[in-house]
Amino acid sequence: MITRFNHQLNKTLPEESWKKLLASGIQNLHELASFLNLDANALLPEGTQQRDLEAGFMTRIPLPYASRIKKGDLHDPLLRQVLPSLYEQQSATGFVADPLDEAHFNPINGLLHKYASRALLVASSACPVHCRYCFRRHFGYTDNNPGKERWAQVFDYLRADTGINEAILSGGDPLSAPDSHLAWMAEQLASIPHIRRLRIHTRFPVVIPQRVNAELLDWLQALSLQKVVVLHINHPAEIDGQVIHALNRLKAANVTLLNQSVLLKGVNDSAEVLAELSEALFAAGVLPYYLHLTDKVANTAHFDIQEAEALTIFGQLQALLPGFLVPKLVREIPNRASKTIIATEIGGAYS
Ligand code: SF4
Repeated sequence: MITRFNHQLNKTLPEESWKKLLASGIQNLHELASFLNLDANALLPEGTQQRDLEAGFMTRIPLPYASRIKKGDLHDPLLRQVLPSLYEQQSATGFVADPLDEAHFNPINGLLHKYASRALLVASSACPVHCRYCFRRHFGYTDNNPGKERWAQVFDYLRADTGINEAILSGGDPLSAPDSHLAWMAEQLASIPHIRRLRIHTRFPVVIPQRVNAELLDWLQALSLQKVVVLHINHPAEIDGQVIHALNRLKAANVTLLNQSVLLKGVNDSAEVLAELSEALFAAGVLPYYLHLTDKVANTAHFDIQEAEALTIFGQLQALLPGFLVPKLVREIPNRASKTIIATEIGGAYS
């Protein structure tokens, strides 16, 4: 089993290999324990079924990401992000399936329209990794999976609203979709006169950097819209040489790179770790953009950090970094005109 993993990671990877890496990700906790030199009972307590821990959200860990988890360390911050645990069974007051009320901002299959100037397209329901704190782990993907004809309705909607100047490809992870489909969507968007920017929210360059291949770069480079990729990296150990290589390729295709993180208990809830993350991002050509407080999603309460503690961490972070490397501390509150900024600087805290 381990030989199979090592072989896949070490050989020179062809452009199409991301699909193989996607298909071969770890889904079984016994395999994971073996890969990480951990006791299987530490991941899957005796008498517990894996599906009990997963609470309806299956385990999925791609090999490039798994290879960055420190072997033998049950408390590794990357492992904590992807390892299902008994904590997911606990119900917590205020933690619900749709805390952002996204069902109310879903006028057409595949489209979320929360903020006036930008609209979000659910380009894929699939993700290469299943982050245990995911804010969309209960999202109604089966109702948001349009075929090409239904996409035409989405483009008509965008064409009719001249206040929308930015289209966001999201999901799931939009880069789970084939490049032919993404290129088609991007062309449709570029044909709408008031759309200026294409933004792509993705974790692929971090968890399977091989996804940033020639096919993806070809259509991105050819696209007339301004291009922004918002990465989702929570910890500096998520960034290795392959990730930096993928980011360099995106920059070379005239893509602006930003990062959003989620403040997660036991993962990155320290100013030192966050400062190291900002430094590593900037060294890789990425600007830290948002630091999110967690959304109150059912099965994820064990990652939650109270606002007062977040503000303390944020104040310490400011003392470690130049201002341009300090992300905005934000929370999403439904029915507001934008994300709610909790703090851009201590002393200037909004709440
Ligand atoms: S990549 Fe994003 S959408 Fe997918 S599981 Fe992780 S947080 Fe959720």
